[in-house]
Amino acid sequence: MNYDEDKIDDCTLALLYLVTHERHEGMGARAWKGFDWDTLNRLHDKGYLSNPIGRAKSVGITEEGFLKAKELFERYFAKEEEKTIPLPKFTPAAKKRWGQVPVWARKEIVEAVWCTQCRIGVPLLLREGKMIGRSLVLRGTCKKCGREVARVIEPADE
Ligand SMILES: [Zn+2]
Repeated sequence: MNYDEDKIDDCTLALLYLVTHERHEGMGARAWKGFDWDTLNRLHDKGYLSNPIGRAKSVGITEEGFLKAKELFERYFAKEEEKTIPLPKFTPAAKKRWGQVPVWARKEIVEAVWCTQCRIGVPLLLREGKMIGRSLVLRGTCKKCGREVARVIEPADE
């Protein structure tokens, strides 16, 4: 059978997320490596894994590999009701900054963003986040009218 190696690689990487057992923020992770050797070697060649050859039962996942694994895992295995809420696209720096905002404050922020069309604070359908300078910029659409809206989060230490 001919099969698409890139698809196998993506699914394997997604499953590696499930068997991650040591996560070092910003430094990658380690995962159990009971997968097809050729696939693990390809993922190593792609820069997602450290060299899988060796007697250890686990393999190192690079930071890039871990983030990709998480994204793929959510894409392939999240339940439908969670998939219908589009996963916001955040750059790693934006994700980090957003993670520093307390959950209650995050909720308040996305529940009331100024919409120039509705002329009130509206719930934001969050789509993406990125850093512009030291500020986090959230972009999405107004849940009432669908217009493009944005919210800037100032640096935390000012
Ligand atoms: Zn609106």
